[in-house]
Amino acid sequence: MKYRDLNIQTQREAPNNARTEGFAFLVRAGYLTRENVPTQLGERTIDHLRGLSSDPSFIFQLSLFIINNETEIFFPIQSGPIEVVHCSSCQYTERLELVRFAKTALPREEELPLEKVLTPDCHTIEALATFLHIPKEKTAKALMYTRLNDSRFIFVVVRGDMQISEAKLRQHVGDIRPATAEEIERAGAAAGYASPIGLKNTIIAVDDLIALSQNLVAGANETGYHLKNTNYGRDYAAEIVVDLVQAKAGDACINCGNPLSVLPAVSLASHKTYAFENILLALAEAHHDNKGLTLPHPAAPFDVYLMHLPGKEMDTRATAEEIYNTLRSADIPMLFDDREERAGVKFNDADLIGCPLRITVGEKGLKEGMVELKPRQEKDNRLISFTRLTSLTSPAEFWDLIKDL
Ligand SMILES: [Zn+2]
Repeated sequence: MKYRDLNIQTQREAPNNARTEGFAFLVRAGYLTRENVPTQLGERTIDHLRGLSSDPSFIFQLSLFIINNETEIFFPIQSGPIEVVHCSSCQYTERLELVRFAKTALPREEELPLEKVLTPDCHTIEALATFLHIPKEKTAKALMYTRLNDSRFIFVVVRGDMQISEAKLRQHVGDIRPATAEEIERAGAAAGYASPIGLKNTIIAVDDLIALSQNLVAGANETGYHLKNTNYGRDYAAEIVVDLVQAKAGDACINCGNPLSVLPAVSLASHKTYAFENILLALAEAHHDNKGLTLPHPAAPFDVYLMHLPGKEMDTRATAEEIYNTLRSADIPMLFDDREERAGVKFNDADLIGCPLRITVGEKGLKEGMVELKPRQEKDNRLISFTRLTSLTSPAEFWDLIKDL
């Protein structure tokens, strides 16, 4: 491809809406607009990645730090919209809302008799625990939903120090919405003072830790009152006893007990469907220096950035054109910067765009029959004879030659 055909627009300054350096370089190098829309160059790169993806292991060959499980591949990034939990010891990886973790029950106690206590203005677990001078672990938190498909009332109990995962609940009961005040009242519960004890026409779901906890304080289903010493099994039963709570950073891994980390991330693939725009962002994030992108082969859309330095006596452009035609017939993907621009402008753009190798045709070298090669990630140039370069007939030969230089 020729630079001008792709209508590449590079920019000197990072866009002020850039949340990451990778995004800033993708905009500066002309892969994306500031509005995060791929340009022609960006589309071409995405098509190139799509082509690579026919090999199911391609994503592991892009030199990216990725974490994955059987269904999804994630790239941790500060600006990522999803939270992923990862165990650095056994590599267990799962979305935060679905991750399983090892729970620790409090020491087993004798079940004590139920006791109704006056608890004015204790609508929240915090207020209740403070008022009764007990830890939140000794309370039962109530959450009430209505199932969408049959309008059944669903009453959920988790330990007071934990957060429900509605995603886990949905896996067991289907789609839900918060119950209305009327629905709560109809079931016999009292908002802010609810418990599953004595409810009618209700599906009760409890977190598995509730079944291992004794003498929890729960609502009395009467405004202003709670019950001390409620016990699952003795005072109420549940249709569903499963893991229903969300993990947090530092909780123990379900497999190995190691503390879990929570990482913001983007999803690169889900059920073998790739998110190529996210892969492009991950590549830019992982592969850049202070001058621009440093995309590795084979992720880069072009292996070579070919350019000529306008000459005074010799037609460097014609020689570059000859290299372009020869390497193109050898199937080497190239971007030919055929503009009559100053050397500095072209070198800057080559660094921004980040192809693995730059080939420069300049008057000085050409007088000796040489052109200049510069790997993007190396400091120094090498010279190669024009005849040797134009004798290549395949990408394999080309990369062998580069390795040997
Ligand atoms: Zn683990």
